[in-house]
Amino acid sequence: MSEKRDYYEILGVSKNASEAEIKKAYRKLALQYHPDKNPDDSSAEAKFKEAAEAYEVLSNQEKRQKYDRFGHSGMSGGFGGGGMDMNDIFSQFGDIFGGGFGGGSFGGGGRSGSRQSRGTNLRVKMKLTLEEIAEGVTKKIKVNKLVNAPGVTYKTCQTCGGSGRLTKMTQTFLGAMQTQAACHTCHGAGKSVDHKPSDADANGLKRQEEVIEIDIPGGVEEGMQLSVSGKGNAGPFNGIPGDLIVVIEELPHAQLRRDGENLHYDAYINFVDAVLGESIEIPTVNGKAKIKVEPGTQSGKMLRLKGKGLPVLQRGYTGDLFVHINVWTPKKVTKEEKELLDQLKSSENFIPNPDSDEKGFFQRVKDMFQH
Ligand SMILES: [Zn+2]
Repeated sequence: MSEKRDYYEILGVSKNASEAEIKKAYRKLALQYHPDKNPDDSSAEAKFKEAAEAYEVLSNQEKRQKYDRFGHSGMSGGFGGGGMDMNDIFSQFGDIFGGGFGGGSFGGGGRSGSRQSRGTNLRVKMKLTLEEIAEGVTKKIKVNKLVNAPGVTYKTCQTCGGSGRLTKMTQTFLGAMQTQAACHTCHGAGKSVDHKPSDADANGLKRQEEVIEIDIPGGVEEGMQLSVSGKGNAGPFNGIPGDLIVVIEELPHAQLRRDGENLHYDAYINFVDAVLGESIEIPTVNGKAKIKVEPGTQSGKMLRLKGKGLPVLQRGYTGDLFVHINVWTPKKVTKEEKELLDQLKSSENFIPNPDSDEKGFFQRVKDMFQH
């Protein structure tokens, strides 16, 4: 038997790597060298087995201590000659990949018996108003998806005899190893369509309209994709259905502008209200709010309404609504108005004096963003 590589070296971690680091390193290698991703590549398969063996030892505290003290010679019994069996490796995967790979690229995880065919994902666009985004919403949408047609009968694949996999022997430095690959005739399903109704395709699937209810959480954004597990196209041969991918489209609001979780509103007040002060009504994403404009308010002042913005997805807090005060300058005036204004103009209170204001515009904006 050839010289074994150091387990830490195989996984590319240090001698004092944590459990999590070891797991992460192995996960990466296992994905890289997975036989499904490297069909008929014996060197990838050897690396896959090597990584699995290293992980098997280093993930077990007792075995790891033994290995640290005695090296490979301390690993008696465990992996003599033949190395790890592929089934052992795949059974390891349960705790490495958790449930995350169910129906994923490794096809349902069933290594014994045939693999289940997976349906394709279905993509739909969903337009949402800012009000819906603020509250979260349940939407019913009609999709045209592939379903298994009733009345389809199947027959066992002749090439693989129904197992969906073809087995062969490969020589590796760990010894002779049995490797399996998906059957090239049935692509792992183990069966094919025997009889089907005329409206079904070669896989026994047909299109059908279905209404699906989708819960959209508050705080989603333009371009965000929500995945609804198992609501996509059916898997051929009653396999695993794909996912429904909902792509969010945000409809612009007539008055409010969105900036992440914050909203902005441009309020226009007349010159008199800016001078004397007034209570004004402003739109919010779920109704209206009243705010007080203080006497002597300058154009450009920004008011902040805490918690009147949008919820932040899965974070449990809500943004703010910023109201930008703009003093409206009349574009035309009557002769009488002009006379009144001319009288006011001569008053010393009407001479612009920014220094008398506590702070200028830029300083006020700066303050607003310093929490
Ligand atoms: Zn087959």
